[in-house]
Amino acid sequence: MRVGAVLLCLVLATCAPSKSEVRETRYVFGTLVEFVIRGADEATAKRAIAAVDLDFQRMHKDWHAWKPGGELMALNEAIARGDDWAVSPFVLPLIEQAKKFEAVSDGLFNPAIGNLLDVWGFHADEPTQGLIPDFAAIRALAAQSPSMRDLSITNGVIHSANRAVSLDFGGFAKGVAMDMAVAKLKTMGIENAIVNAGGGLSTLGDAGERMWKLGIRDPRDWGVIASVELMGGESLHTSGNYERFVEADGVRYSHILNPHSGMPVDHLVSVSVIHSDGALADAAATALTVAGPQAWPEIAKRMGVVFVMVVDKQGTVYASPEMLARVTFEPGKALKVVASEPLSQGLILSHLRQLDRPSIH
Ligand code: ADP
Ligand code: MG
Repeated sequence: MRVGAVLLCLVLATCAPSKSEVRETRYVFGTLVEFVIRGADEATAKRAIAAVDLDFQRMHKDWHAWKPGGELMALNEAIARGDDWAVSPFVLPLIEQAKKFEAVSDGLFNPAIGNLLDVWGFHADEPTQGLIPDFAAIRALAAQSPSMRDLSITNGVIHSANRAVSLDFGGFAKGVAMDMAVAKLKTMGIENAIVNAGGGLSTLGDAGERMWKLGIRDPRDWGVIASVELMGGESLHTSGNYERFVEADGVRYSHILNPHSGMPVDHLVSVSVIHSDGALADAAATALTVAGPQAWPEIAKRMGVVFVMVVDKQGTVYASPEMLARVTFEPGKALKVVASEPLSQGLILSHLRQLDRPSIH
């Protein structure tokens, strides 16, 4: 798994750090993950962080789309050979969630497009700049229509009807990981925490009798464009198509692809989503980036996400009225703010069932 190397969101200290605050940073998934734990004694906090860190190492190995040695990579190799492959309860729930998110996003969120991401150069820690693939090769790969629908699951054994499927969970694994991190902290006796991987974070409890206050980064200048308060149990995920790219002949090609064309999206600059299910928030932020300026409210409704904020290339902010009610813009930052229709009305899928989390043995 590769996750954004740039911090999109910051924990804004609304009060002086209390005596019982523990902050630690780990480097994992190619990014910095910050833990903020409040109200616990230091030894308990450190023990809990160490336990989550172990889980992160396993996720990094077994959910990685292109580094050998882990489970997902072995599954991808089996699919390419045309073999069936048994996966563990650590990977299976991600496949099930990925199927669900592809279906509810109308195919815009599609974690089966690993081969396309690979030819674009995104299966590398640092994509090689100056080189882009031949567009005919991209069209040929996209025409093979890899989809999560190609996968059938029988007693944990995965069969793919399409050998062009290659799983890449980069679009939502951080959401699963941050949710699992706060859940683990809770089992280790922590009541108030935030685990922040830059582009995505999950919260637990409160920030000392108040909500967690977070900054949403301004994609144009790396400052903060707005702040938002989160309740315990909420996640905030931001997808930025400016964040990871290959640049050739002065054109930037983003790491978020339209699965139908195989081409990088270039319209929206950043999409932020808040939801209690971090995996869904992360998948939705990626899907809405693909959906673009016209279609994002419709796809948000299909996916059951209500709190959405989008920033386009001109710096115009588009947001649901529900999100606008929660954010405070920094003075002079949002030059134009456009409210979409409300997203909480007429939800097509308001009842998205939360699937099991991966289990760690
Ligand atoms: P970040 O990697 O910064 O967390 P995102 O959550 O937006 O950002 O995920 C981007 C990643 O998702 C890409 O690097 C790639 O691995 C994967 N991806 C790209 N396009 C799609 C898509 N249409 N559907 C699902 N995953 C995608
Ligand atoms: Mg995402």
